[in-house]
Amino acid sequence: MLLLRKNFSRSSPIATARPFAYRNRALSCDQTSLATLAATHGTPLYVYSQQHILGRLALFQQAFASRPHTICYAVKANSALAILKLLAQNGAGFDIVSGGELARVVKAAKPAVKKTVFAGVGKQIPEIDAALKAGILLFNVESESELALLADRAELLKIPARFSLRVNPDVFAETHPYISTGLSAHKFGIDINAARAIYRKAAKSKYLIPTGVSVHIGSQIRAVDPFGAALDRVTSLIQQLKKDGITLTHIDAGGGLGIEYTDAPFDPAAAVAAYAKQVLEATDHLDLHLLLEPGRFLVAQAGALLTTVVNVKKNGNKTFVITDAGMNDLIRPALYQAHHQILPVRQTSAKSSPVDIVGPVCESGDFFARDRDLPATKPGDLLAILDAGAYGMSLTSNYNTRTRPPEVLVDGAESRLIRRRETIKDLFAPELP
Ligand SMILES: *Cc1c(COP(=O)(O)O)cnc(C)c1O
Repeated sequence: MLLLRKNFSRSSPIATARPFAYRNRALSCDQTSLATLAATHGTPLYVYSQQHILGRLALFQQAFASRPHTICYAVKANSALAILKLLAQNGAGFDIVSGGELARVVKAAKPAVKKTVFAGVGKQIPEIDAALKAGILLFNVESESELALLADRAELLKIPARFSLRVNPDVFAETHPYISTGLSAHKFGIDINAARAIYRKAAKSKYLIPTGVSVHIGSQIRAVDPFGAALDRVTSLIQQLKKDGITLTHIDAGGGLGIEYTDAPFDPAAAVAAYAKQVLEATDHLDLHLLLEPGRFLVAQAGALLTTVVNVKKNGNKTFVITDAGMNDLIRPALYQAHHQILPVRQTSAKSSPVDIVGPVCESGDFFARDRDLPATKPGDLLAILDAGAYGMSLTSNYNTRTRPPEVLVDGAESRLIRRRETIKDLFAPELP
Protein backbone atom coordinates (compact mmCIF):
# COMPACT_ATOMS: atom_id res chain seq x y z
CA MET A 1 0.00 0.00 0.00
CA LEU A 2 1.32 3.44 -0.85
CA LEU A 3 2.13 5.66 2.06
CA LEU A 4 1.01 8.97 0.67
CA ARG A 5 -0.82 11.50 2.73
CA LYS A 6 -4.37 12.33 1.78
CA ASN A 7 -4.71 15.60 3.62
CA PHE A 8 -2.54 18.56 2.95
CA SER A 9 -1.42 20.85 5.68
CA ARG A 10 0.23 24.01 4.46
CA SER A 11 1.91 24.51 7.79
CA SER A 12 3.81 21.24 7.73
CA PRO A 13 4.93 20.48 4.17
CA ILE A 14 7.66 18.25 5.54
CA ALA A 15 5.70 16.06 7.89
CA THR A 16 5.79 13.30 5.30
CA ALA A 17 8.44 12.02 2.99
CA ARG A 18 7.08 13.52 -0.24
CA PRO A 19 4.96 16.41 -1.53
CA PHE A 20 3.18 14.07 -3.97
CA ALA A 21 -0.23 12.66 -3.06
CA TYR A 22 -3.58 11.81 -4.64
CA ARG A 23 -6.30 14.44 -4.36
CA ASN A 24 -9.59 13.23 -5.80
CA ARG A 25 -7.69 10.40 -7.50
CA ALA A 26 -5.37 12.87 -9.27
CA LEU A 27 -1.73 12.86 -8.26
CA SER A 28 -0.66 16.32 -7.12
CA CYS A 29 2.46 18.14 -6.06
CA ASP A 30 1.41 20.28 -3.09
CA GLN A 31 -1.99 21.58 -4.28
CA THR A 32 -1.05 21.51 -7.96
CA SER A 33 -2.38 18.79 -10.26
CA LEU A 34 0.33 16.97 -12.17
CA ALA A 35 -2.02 16.30 -15.09
CA THR A 36 -2.51 20.06 -15.46
CA LEU A 37 1.24 20.65 -15.42
CA ALA A 38 1.73 17.93 -18.05
CA ALA A 39 -0.99 19.48 -20.23
CA THR A 40 0.64 22.90 -19.95
CA HIS A 41 4.29 21.98 -20.36
CA GLY A 42 4.26 18.56 -22.03
CA THR A 43 6.24 15.53 -20.94
CA PRO A 44 8.81 14.43 -19.97
CA LEU A 45 8.70 17.11 -17.27
CA TYR A 46 10.49 17.58 -13.97
CA VAL A 47 8.30 18.94 -11.17
CA TYR A 48 9.66 20.11 -7.79
CA SER A 49 7.96 21.40 -4.67
CA GLN A 50 9.51 24.60 -3.33
CA GLN A 51 7.86 24.17 0.08
CA HIS A 52 9.29 20.69 0.38
CA ILE A 53 12.83 21.82 -0.45
CA LEU A 54 12.62 24.65 2.07
CA GLY A 55 11.16 22.26 4.63
CA ARG A 56 14.12 19.93 4.25
CA LEU A 57 16.57 22.84 4.53
CA ALA A 58 14.78 23.97 7.69
CA LEU A 59 15.07 20.45 9.16
CA PHE A 60 18.83 20.63 8.74
CA GLN A 61 19.08 24.17 10.08
CA GLN A 62 17.02 23.27 13.15
CA ALA A 63 18.94 20.07 13.83
CA PHE A 64 22.23 21.99 13.92
CA ALA A 65 20.89 25.19 15.53
CA SER A 66 22.90 24.60 18.71
CA ARG A 67 26.18 25.00 16.84
CA PRO A 68 27.58 27.65 14.47
CA HIS A 69 27.11 26.03 11.08
CA THR A 70 26.57 26.56 7.37
CA ILE A 71 24.54 24.25 5.15
CA CYS A 72 26.55 24.10 1.93
CA TYR A 73 24.08 22.52 -0.48
CA ALA A 74 25.81 20.18 -2.95
CA VAL A 75 25.05 21.85 -6.28
CA LYS A 76 25.56 18.71 -8.33
CA ALA A 77 22.43 17.10 -6.86
CA ASN A 78 20.22 19.60 -8.67
CA SER A 79 21.85 22.66 -10.14
CA ALA A 80 18.81 24.61 -11.38
CA LEU A 81 19.50 28.32 -10.93
CA ALA A 82 16.06 28.88 -9.42
CA ILE A 83 16.69 26.21 -6.78
CA LEU A 84 20.14 27.60 -5.94
CA LYS A 85 18.59 31.03 -5.55
CA LEU A 86 15.81 29.69 -3.35
CA LEU A 87 18.27 27.91 -1.06
CA ALA A 88 20.63 30.90 -0.85
CA GLN A 89 17.73 33.21 0.02
CA ASN A 90 17.00 30.90 2.91
CA GLY A 91 20.50 30.86 4.32
CA ALA A 92 22.32 28.12 2.43
CA GLY A 93 25.84 28.22 1.08
CA PHE A 94 27.10 25.78 -1.54
CA ASP A 95 29.41 22.86 -2.19
CA ILE A 96 30.70 23.00 -5.75
CA VAL A 97 32.82 20.57 -7.76
CA SER A 98 33.64 22.55 -10.90
CA GLY A 99 34.15 25.99 -12.37
CA GLY A 100 30.78 25.57 -14.05
CA GLU A 101 29.08 25.11 -10.70
CA LEU A 102 30.91 28.17 -9.39
CA ALA A 103 29.48 30.15 -12.32
CA ARG A 104 26.02 28.89 -11.39
CA VAL A 105 26.39 30.09 -7.80
CA VAL A 106 27.68 33.48 -9.00
CA LYS A 107 24.74 33.79 -11.38
CA ALA A 108 22.03 32.58 -9.01
CA ALA A 109 23.18 33.97 -5.68
CA LYS A 110 26.39 36.00 -5.79
CA PRO A 111 26.55 36.84 -2.05
CA ALA A 112 26.52 33.09 -1.28
CA VAL A 113 29.93 32.71 -2.95
CA LYS A 114 31.54 33.51 0.38
CA LYS A 115 29.69 30.54 1.85
CA THR A 116 30.87 28.21 -0.93
CA VAL A 117 33.33 25.34 -0.65
CA PHE A 118 35.05 23.76 -3.64
CA ALA A 119 35.72 20.00 -3.75
CA GLY A 120 36.88 17.70 -6.56
CA VAL A 121 39.91 15.56 -7.38
CA GLY A 122 40.79 17.26 -10.66
CA LYS A 123 40.58 21.01 -10.17
CA GLN A 124 42.17 22.88 -13.06
CA ILE A 125 44.00 26.21 -13.08
CA PRO A 126 41.17 28.30 -14.58
CA GLU A 127 38.75 26.84 -12.02
CA ILE A 128 41.11 27.51 -9.10
CA ASP A 129 41.77 31.05 -10.32
CA ALA A 130 38.08 31.79 -10.76
CA ALA A 131 37.31 30.52 -7.25
CA LEU A 132 40.15 32.56 -5.70
CA LYS A 133 39.01 35.72 -7.48
CA ALA A 134 35.37 35.10 -6.55
CA GLY A 135 36.35 34.80 -2.87
CA ILE A 136 34.95 31.39 -1.94
CA LEU A 137 35.00 30.30 1.69
CA LEU A 138 37.57 27.54 1.18
CA PHE A 139 38.97 24.86 -1.07
CA ASN A 140 38.53 21.23 -0.09
CA VAL A 141 41.89 20.00 -1.33
CA GLU A 142 42.12 16.36 -2.37
CA SER A 143 45.88 15.78 -2.85
CA GLU A 144 49.28 17.16 -1.93
CA SER A 145 49.95 18.10 -5.55
CA GLU A 146 46.67 20.00 -5.74
CA LEU A 147 47.70 21.91 -2.61
CA ALA A 148 50.99 22.86 -4.29
CA LEU A 149 49.08 24.06 -7.34
CA LEU A 150 46.71 26.06 -5.14
CA ALA A 151 49.69 27.69 -3.38
CA ASP A 152 51.20 28.65 -6.76
CA ARG A 153 47.99 30.18 -8.05
CA ALA A 154 47.30 32.02 -4.80
CA GLU A 155 50.80 33.50 -4.83
CA LEU A 156 50.55 34.49 -8.49
CA LEU A 157 47.19 36.20 -7.95
CA LYS A 158 48.22 37.52 -4.52
CA ILE A 159 45.01 36.12 -3.04
CA PRO A 160 45.53 33.95 0.06
CA ALA A 161 43.75 30.59 -0.23
CA ARG A 162 41.79 29.16 2.67
CA PHE A 163 41.79 25.41 2.52
CA SER A 164 40.71 22.19 4.21
CA LEU A 165 42.25 18.88 3.38
CA ARG A 166 39.59 16.44 2.37
CA VAL A 167 40.76 13.42 4.26
CA ASN A 168 39.93 9.87 3.40
CA PRO A 169 39.01 8.30 6.75
CA ASP A 170 38.97 4.71 5.43
CA VAL A 171 35.46 4.19 6.80
CA PHE A 172 33.02 1.86 5.11
CA ALA A 173 29.56 3.25 4.41
CA GLU A 174 26.91 0.84 3.17
CA THR A 175 25.75 2.23 -0.17
CA HIS A 176 26.08 1.51 -3.88
CA PRO A 177 29.80 1.07 -4.77
CA TYR A 178 29.62 3.86 -7.38
CA ILE A 179 28.63 6.40 -4.72
CA SER A 180 30.86 5.25 -1.89
CA THR A 181 33.90 7.49 -1.48
CA GLY A 182 35.42 7.08 1.99
CA LEU A 183 37.63 4.02 1.59
CA SER A 184 41.33 4.20 0.79
CA ALA A 185 40.54 2.25 -2.40
CA HIS A 186 38.59 5.28 -3.69
CA LYS A 187 40.11 8.18 -5.62
CA PHE A 188 38.82 10.77 -3.13
CA GLY A 189 40.69 12.62 -0.42
CA ILE A 190 44.07 12.39 1.26
CA ASP A 191 45.07 9.45 3.47
CA ILE A 192 44.18 10.71 6.92
CA ASN A 193 47.52 9.43 8.26
CA ALA A 194 49.43 11.64 5.81
CA ALA A 195 47.36 14.75 6.48
CA ARG A 196 49.21 16.03 9.56
CA ALA A 197 52.54 16.39 7.75
CA ILE A 198 50.87 18.15 4.83
CA TYR A 199 49.18 20.70 7.12
CA ARG A 200 52.49 21.38 8.86
CA LYS A 201 54.21 22.00 5.57
CA ALA A 202 51.35 24.15 4.25
CA ALA A 203 51.29 26.27 7.41
CA LYS A 204 54.69 27.63 6.36
CA SER A 205 53.37 28.88 3.03
CA LYS A 206 52.49 32.57 2.94
CA TYR A 207 49.48 32.13 0.67
CA LEU A 208 47.93 29.01 2.16
CA ILE A 209 45.64 29.39 5.17
CA PRO A 210 44.86 26.06 6.87
CA THR A 211 41.20 26.60 7.75
CA GLY A 212 39.56 23.26 8.30
CA VAL A 213 39.36 19.55 7.68
CA SER A 214 36.72 17.96 5.51
CA VAL A 215 35.40 14.48 5.01
CA HIS A 216 32.74 13.06 2.68
CA ILE A 217 32.27 9.31 2.78
CA GLY A 218 29.69 8.79 0.05
CA SER A 219 26.08 9.24 -0.92
CA GLN A 220 22.71 7.66 -0.08
CA ILE A 221 24.02 6.50 3.31
CA ARG A 222 21.15 5.34 5.52
CA ALA A 223 22.98 4.09 8.64
CA VAL A 224 24.34 7.13 10.46
CA ASP A 225 27.15 5.46 12.45
CA PRO A 226 29.74 5.77 9.65
CA PHE A 227 29.34 9.58 9.76
CA GLY A 228 30.29 9.56 13.46
CA ALA A 229 33.16 7.12 12.90
CA ALA A 230 34.61 9.28 10.12
CA LEU A 231 34.34 12.44 12.21
CA ASP A 232 35.98 10.75 15.21
CA ARG A 233 39.04 10.21 13.04
CA VAL A 234 38.91 13.79 11.82
CA THR A 235 38.68 15.23 15.31
CA SER A 236 41.74 13.35 16.50
CA LEU A 237 43.62 14.83 13.54
CA ILE A 238 42.41 18.29 14.55
CA GLN A 239 43.75 17.77 18.08
CA GLN A 240 47.13 16.66 16.75
CA LEU A 241 47.27 19.78 14.61
CA LYS A 242 46.46 21.94 17.60
CA LYS A 243 49.56 20.53 19.32
CA ASP A 244 51.52 21.53 16.23
CA GLY A 245 50.27 25.10 16.62
CA ILE A 246 47.81 24.84 13.72
CA THR A 247 44.41 26.04 14.90
CA LEU A 248 41.59 25.36 12.52
CA THR A 249 38.25 27.15 12.50
CA HIS A 250 36.07 24.85 10.36
CA ILE A 251 35.11 21.20 10.19
CA ASP A 252 33.27 19.93 7.14
CA ALA A 253 31.21 16.78 7.65
CA GLY A 254 30.38 16.43 3.93
CA GLY A 255 27.03 15.24 2.63
CA GLY A 256 25.64 11.81 1.92
CA LEU A 257 22.60 11.42 4.16
CA GLY A 258 20.25 9.03 2.37
CA ILE A 259 16.52 8.95 1.77
CA GLU A 260 13.94 6.15 1.37
CA TYR A 261 13.25 5.40 -2.30
CA THR A 262 10.73 2.62 -1.69
CA ASP A 263 7.26 2.91 -0.19
CA ALA A 264 8.58 1.94 3.27
CA PRO A 265 7.73 4.48 5.97
CA PHE A 266 10.26 7.29 6.20
CA ASP A 267 10.47 10.09 8.73
CA PRO A 268 12.85 12.73 7.37
CA ALA A 269 12.91 14.66 10.65
CA ALA A 270 14.01 11.55 12.55
CA ALA A 271 16.67 10.83 9.90
CA VAL A 272 18.16 14.31 10.24
CA ALA A 273 17.99 14.13 14.03
CA ALA A 274 19.89 10.81 14.09
CA TYR A 275 22.45 12.20 11.67
CA ALA A 276 22.87 15.44 13.60
CA LYS A 277 23.35 13.50 16.84
CA GLN A 278 26.31 11.63 15.29
CA VAL A 279 27.85 14.79 13.87
CA LEU A 280 27.31 16.95 16.95
CA GLU A 281 28.54 14.32 19.39
CA ALA A 282 31.68 13.62 17.42
CA THR A 283 32.55 17.31 17.30
CA ASP A 284 31.16 18.68 20.58
CA HIS A 285 34.50 19.18 22.33
CA LEU A 286 35.76 21.39 19.51
CA ASP A 287 34.98 25.05 19.09
CA LEU A 288 34.61 24.90 15.33
CA HIS A 289 32.23 26.19 12.68
CA LEU A 290 30.47 23.20 11.19
CA LEU A 291 30.00 22.84 7.44
CA LEU A 292 27.44 20.37 6.11
CA GLU A 293 27.04 19.45 2.47
CA PRO A 294 23.68 17.75 1.97
CA GLY A 295 22.55 17.36 -1.62
CA ARG A 296 20.17 14.47 -2.15
CA PHE A 297 18.45 14.83 1.22
CA LEU A 298 17.31 18.38 0.46
CA VAL A 299 15.96 17.90 -3.04
CA ALA A 300 15.43 14.25 -4.02
CA GLN A 301 11.96 13.74 -2.61
CA ALA A 302 10.78 17.19 -3.66
CA GLY A 303 10.89 16.13 -7.29
CA ALA A 304 9.20 13.78 -9.74
CA LEU A 305 9.69 13.10 -13.41
CA LEU A 306 6.39 13.08 -15.28
CA THR A 307 6.23 10.90 -18.36
CA THR A 308 3.60 9.76 -20.85
CA VAL A 309 3.11 6.15 -21.88
CA VAL A 310 3.77 5.97 -25.63
CA ASN A 311 3.23 2.25 -26.13
CA VAL A 312 2.50 -0.97 -24.30
CA LYS A 313 4.21 -3.93 -25.94
CA LYS A 314 4.30 -7.64 -25.22
CA ASN A 315 7.34 -9.82 -25.97
CA GLY A 316 6.54 -13.42 -25.05
CA ASN A 317 5.19 -13.26 -21.53
CA LYS A 318 6.80 -9.92 -20.72
CA THR A 319 4.97 -6.61 -20.90
CA PHE A 320 6.89 -3.44 -21.64
CA VAL A 321 5.39 -0.07 -20.83
CA ILE A 322 7.32 2.35 -23.05
CA THR A 323 7.48 5.95 -21.87
CA ASP A 324 8.47 9.21 -23.51
CA ALA A 325 11.15 9.68 -20.83
CA GLY A 326 14.34 7.71 -21.23
CA MET A 327 17.65 7.07 -19.51
CA ASN A 328 18.91 10.38 -20.87
CA ASP A 329 16.25 12.08 -18.72
CA LEU A 330 16.82 10.01 -15.57
CA ILE A 331 19.83 7.72 -15.54
CA ARG A 332 19.78 6.56 -11.93
CA PRO A 333 18.14 3.15 -12.59
CA ALA A 334 20.60 2.41 -15.42
CA LEU A 335 23.67 3.79 -13.62
CA TYR A 336 23.12 2.65 -10.03
CA GLN A 337 20.36 -0.02 -10.35
CA ALA A 338 18.39 2.59 -8.41
CA HIS A 339 14.79 1.96 -7.39
CA HIS A 340 12.19 4.69 -7.96
CA GLN A 341 8.52 4.38 -7.14
CA ILE A 342 6.37 4.90 -10.22
CA LEU A 343 2.75 5.97 -9.83
CA PRO A 344 -0.07 6.50 -12.30
CA VAL A 345 -1.00 10.17 -12.27
CA ARG A 346 -4.68 9.22 -12.42
CA GLN A 347 -5.36 6.80 -9.60
CA THR A 348 -7.12 3.72 -10.92
CA SER A 349 -8.61 0.55 -9.56
CA ALA A 350 -7.37 -1.36 -12.63
CA LYS A 351 -5.71 -4.67 -11.87
CA SER A 352 -1.95 -4.53 -11.33
CA SER A 353 0.48 -6.85 -13.05
CA PRO A 354 4.27 -6.96 -13.36
CA VAL A 355 5.68 -4.89 -16.22
CA ASP A 356 8.99 -3.41 -17.29
CA ILE A 357 8.80 0.36 -17.55
CA VAL A 358 11.32 1.40 -20.18
CA GLY A 359 12.35 4.41 -22.21
CA PRO A 360 12.72 4.79 -25.98
CA VAL A 361 16.54 5.02 -25.99
CA CYS A 362 18.42 2.37 -27.95
CA GLU A 363 20.03 0.64 -24.94
CA SER A 364 18.80 -2.35 -22.95
CA GLY A 365 19.91 -0.40 -19.87
CA ASP A 366 17.21 2.15 -20.65
CA PHE A 367 14.71 1.11 -18.00
CA PHE A 368 13.05 2.73 -15.01
CA ALA A 369 11.73 -0.44 -13.38
CA ARG A 370 11.71 -4.16 -14.04
CA ASP A 371 8.98 -6.63 -13.08
CA ARG A 372 7.17 -3.84 -11.27
CA ASP A 373 3.49 -4.15 -10.38
CA LEU A 374 1.64 -1.40 -12.20
CA PRO A 375 -2.09 -0.99 -12.79
CA ALA A 376 -3.04 -1.66 -16.44
CA THR A 377 -2.01 1.32 -18.53
CA LYS A 378 -2.40 2.49 -22.11
CA PRO A 379 -0.75 5.00 -24.46
CA GLY A 380 -1.44 8.56 -23.35
CA ASP A 381 -1.53 7.72 -19.63
CA LEU A 382 0.71 9.76 -17.37
CA LEU A 383 3.15 8.25 -14.89
CA ALA A 384 5.15 9.96 -12.17
CA ILE A 385 8.61 8.68 -11.28
CA LEU A 386 9.10 9.75 -7.67
CA ASP A 387 12.17 10.94 -5.76
CA ALA A 388 13.74 12.28 -8.95
CA GLY A 389 14.68 15.71 -7.60
CA ALA A 390 18.33 14.79 -6.98
CA TYR A 391 20.72 13.39 -9.57
CA GLY A 392 17.88 13.48 -12.08
CA MET A 393 18.01 16.62 -14.19
CA SER A 394 21.66 17.21 -13.27
CA LEU A 395 22.61 13.87 -14.84
CA THR A 396 20.58 14.28 -18.03
CA SER A 397 22.18 14.05 -21.45
CA ASN A 398 21.24 14.51 -25.08
CA TYR A 399 21.93 10.87 -25.95
CA ASN A 400 19.96 9.75 -29.00
CA THR A 401 19.66 13.49 -29.85
CA ARG A 402 16.91 13.88 -27.30
CA THR A 403 16.18 17.29 -25.86
CA ARG A 404 16.31 17.79 -22.11
CA PRO A 405 13.00 18.13 -20.28
CA PRO A 406 11.73 21.39 -18.79
CA GLU A 407 11.51 21.97 -15.04
CA VAL A 408 8.63 23.42 -13.05
CA LEU A 409 8.80 24.71 -9.48
CA VAL A 410 5.53 24.33 -7.58
CA ASP A 411 4.63 26.53 -4.63
CA GLY A 412 1.39 25.29 -3.12
CA ALA A 413 -1.31 25.88 -5.72
CA GLU A 414 1.02 27.92 -7.93
CA SER A 415 3.79 26.88 -10.26
CA ARG A 416 6.34 28.40 -12.57
CA LEU A 417 8.58 27.16 -15.34
CA ILE A 418 12.21 27.42 -14.19
CA ARG A 419 13.69 25.89 -17.31
CA ARG A 420 12.06 25.61 -20.71
CA ARG A 421 12.21 22.47 -22.82
CA GLU A 422 15.35 22.27 -24.92
CA THR A 423 14.86 22.49 -28.66
CA ILE A 424 16.69 20.73 -31.47
CA LYS A 425 18.03 24.17 -32.36
CA ASP A 426 19.61 24.41 -28.90
CA LEU A 427 21.33 21.10 -29.54
CA PHE A 428 22.71 22.16 -32.90
CA ALA A 429 23.99 25.52 -31.63
CA PRO A 430 27.57 24.44 -30.77
CA GLU A 431 28.02 22.28 -33.89
CA LEU A 432 30.04 23.31 -36.94
CA PRO A 433 28.83 21.20 -39.86
C1 LIG B 1 28.17 14.73 -4.01
C2 LIG B 1 28.78 15.38 -2.83
C3 LIG B 1 27.99 15.81 -1.78
C4 LIG B 1 26.50 15.59 -1.71
O1 LIG B 1 26.18 14.25 -1.53
P1 LIG B 1 24.65 13.84 -1.25
O2 LIG B 1 24.70 12.37 -1.15
O3 LIG B 1 23.87 14.31 -2.40
O4 LIG B 1 24.26 14.49 0.02
C5 LIG B 1 28.60 16.48 -0.73
N1 LIG B 1 29.94 16.69 -0.73
C6 LIG B 1 30.74 16.26 -1.73
C7 LIG B 1 32.20 16.52 -1.65
C8 LIG B 1 30.20 15.60 -2.81
O5 LIG B 1 30.99 15.17 -3.79
